[in-house]
Amino acid sequence: MSMKSNLVVEYCPYCGNKLIRKKIEGRERLFCSKCGRIYYENPTPVVAAVTRDEQGRVLLVKRKIEPQKGGWALPGGFMEIEETPLQAALRELKEETGIIAKVKRLIGVYSNQSKIHGYLINIIYETEVLEGEPCAGDDAEEAKFFTVDQLPPLAFWSHQEALAEVLK
Ligand SMILES: [Zn+2]
Repeated sequence: MSMKSNLVVEYCPYCGNKLIRKKIEGRERLFCSKCGRIYYENPTPVVAAVTRDEQGRVLLVKRKIEPQKGGWALPGGFMEIEETPLQAALRELKEETGIIAKVKRLIGVYSNQSKIHGYLINIIYETEVLEGEPCAGDDAEEAKFFTVDQLPPLAFWSHQEALAEVLK
């Protein structure tokens, strides 16, 4: 199956000419025949955090926006350009849940395909609560701690995998 991004760029971001598909460096790439530049299609990094309180409950957010609006997920989101993945994870956690945390470890790096955002690389950390009470903000409609026996299914496969890794 061909790995084709659903986020198709049609025009050269440098000169505005229409891009063509051309075999370069062993694979088909978007190429500008006017200025000679190659438009590389790469996955976008996103981050998320598995955060538990001192009772071992897991912090989840109910999504306010698509994809998977209304589904439960780990707090997380897109990295800003100047951030490290860890900084991004802690920022997203604070924005979506009000919780200030510190990192415990990197759980894993997962590859996803999103219908809306194309190919993603999801970097997921385990973090520990430092302070704050769950208070939904930003892209979260609700933020709350779940006991392990009451966890809802998560909206994203990568989140489910990372959570399973922490709970095993
Ligand atoms: Zn161009």
